[in-house]
Amino acid sequence: MNQPLNSNDITIADAQQKVDTWIKTLGVRYFSELTNLAQLVEEVGEVARIMSRRFGEQSFKSGESDADLGDELADVMFVLICIANQTGVDLTAALEKNLQKKTQRDAKRHLENPKLTPKKDNNNGDN
Ligand SMILES: [Mg+2]
Repeated sequence: MNQPLNSNDITIADAQQKVDTWIKTLGVRYFSELTNLAQLVEEVGEVARIMSRRFGEQSFKSGESDADLGDELADVMFVLICIANQTGVDLTAALEKNLQKKTQRDAKRHLENPKLTPKKDNNNGDN
């Protein structure tokens, strides 16, 4: 994944800086950490609403539109970044560390999970 960045790409650090600038100008100040936690849950709920209707058994109500999943995921990212910024978390370092942890801990876990491999057809059409 070490692809060169395109001129329009932003790094996680860029995103943290952009959100910080936005909050301190247009947003005036950060909401409290607990308010942002509630906001995060709310935004995750909006993602869940779309996922449930688009991919699950739930249907859209009449007049309810198939909202923009990307926009809702971006809302989740925005609030997540706010929480990271106001609690001093460097998300680049945190993600790298987290991926290392998962790589070591789960090196074989998913590869050896039979639920993740295609089921073999025991029937072979012989009945
Ligand atoms: Mg939203």
